[in-house]
Amino acid sequence: MDAIENVKGPVLRPGDDGFDAQLAGYQTDHPHRPDLVVAATSADDVVAAVRHAADHGLPVAVETSGHGRAAPLTGGVLITTRRMDGVRIDPARRVARVQAGTRWARVVAAAAEHGLVPPSGSSPEAGVVGYTLGGGIGVLARELGWASDRVESVDLVTADGGLRHVTADSDPELFRVLRGAGHGLGVVTAMEIELAPGGRFYGGALTVAEEHVPALLAAYREWTADLPDGLTSSIGALRYPDLPVLPEHLRGRYLAQVRIAWTGPADEGERLVAPLRAAVPTTGELGELPYTEAASIFSEPDRPHPYTGTNALLRELDPAVLDAALDIAGPGAPVMCVLGLRHLGGALSREPAVPDAVPHRDAPYLLQVLSLVDGTDLPGRLHRELMEAAAPWTAGRTPNFRFGSRAARDWPIETPGRAELEAELDPKGLFHQA
Ligand SMILES: Cc1cc2nc3c(=O)[nH]c(=O)nc-3n(C[C@H](O)[C@H](O)[C@H](O)COP(=O)(O)OP(=O)(O)OC[C@H]3O[C@@H](n4cnc5c(N)ncnc54)[C@H](O)[C@@H]3O)c2cc1C
Repeated sequence: MDAIENVKGPVLRPGDDGFDAQLAGYQTDHPHRPDLVVAATSADDVVAAVRHAADHGLPVAVETSGHGRAAPLTGGVLITTRRMDGVRIDPARRVARVQAGTRWARVVAAAAEHGLVPPSGSSPEAGVVGYTLGGGIGVLARELGWASDRVESVDLVTADGGLRHVTADSDPELFRVLRGAGHGLGVVTAMEIELAPGGRFYGGALTVAEEHVPALLAAYREWTADLPDGLTSSIGALRYPDLPVLPEHLRGRYLAQVRIAWTGPADEGERLVAPLRAAVPTTGELGELPYTEAASIFSEPDRPHPYTGTNALLRELDPAVLDAALDIAGPGAPVMCVLGLRHLGGALSREPAVPDAVPHRDAPYLLQVLSLVDGTDLPGRLHRELMEAAAPWTAGRTPNFRFGSRAARDWPIETPGRAELEAELDPKGLFHQA
């Protein structure tokens, strides 16, 4: 292969120092296996890498954190964006301009200096661009809407090696599809995202013991039927592994956590949460927190690991779905399943002023399931069984919570207009589709 020119960041081949480190992301199952890694430092590096790949007919993949990696790339060029981690806040416009590899933690911290909050989610280490291209359901999602709804511009390197500044005016159709169904259309080098005023919220996580989880799910269904948009919540339930690294109160126990974030006054938050607390015994405290600690209410694992998972956007939360979730992927499941239930609606259900490609925005709930990859096909089978049980109430899926190549293959997401754009922008299929 010819040398690659005009790149300032490291260009690495198998066997080079640092090559393997570039492939190591949060998801440790099926890493990419490229012939060349370009650790880009700028949009110019990305342009050079894409032109090199196009000239040599090589496939291209892009990775930031590896949280959302699906099918691995074999051969070709992997562009890693971790060195492009700048963020600039424009307080007058209430906009954050982020580079390709910026993670949410940096944006949350930078926005806080101006009394602003971004539409960030449960993991401070997830990449802003990957998250936002796939929709993005944040800690305050019912108030702020989908992260994609808040995108104001996208700088995109397309398969012809050109760098475009894509806005609603410059290229309405491409702009629409990038916001919500944007993975694999090119390499985003920067994005502008609208922020919201804010800084503190009332919330935290309430823990519910195994024997009360069925009652919790029933109560959650009732409770979430009528809540103001300022209250965003979700449930995560799993059996914690019996490992000495875990605190005694978690080891080996099946627990559910209700994560709550309310943007109004604390006393009103207490009043809103009271019916749920009265319905089931809970432990844990709620209180006022700075938004810089928002991700702490989720306590996502920070160590890389192999996982697979999928989701269903539900038209309604029928009790049969809750029963199936517990029967198939609950405490008695033969492999560890993390069950998730997010309350959607509110601003998530309202069409943005400029149309985007978020699918099924009127779905009021998201059901999620995730398991560690254990070398068997059992996790995949259980997930499929659960998705089939939920099928009568399923509107579709959101790209962000399909983890692993199997989930992407089993549950493709069709976006109106996307195939036409791919044919126009990337007729030779340069960009790897996961
Ligand atoms: C622990 C955990 C918590 C999560 N919490 C939430 C949550 O609260 N809300 C939510 O909506 N989602 C959440 N997600 C899902 C997450 O948003 C997706 O996995 C997302 O794809 C991660 O983006 P990334 O860039 O960090 O990951 P990567 O694996 O690096 O990339 C994911 C996808 O984005 C593409 N991509 C990345 N950078 C670029 C770029 N510069 N240009 C073009 N394409 C690019 C990649 O090619 C890949 O297809 C969570 C995931 C995990 C593992």
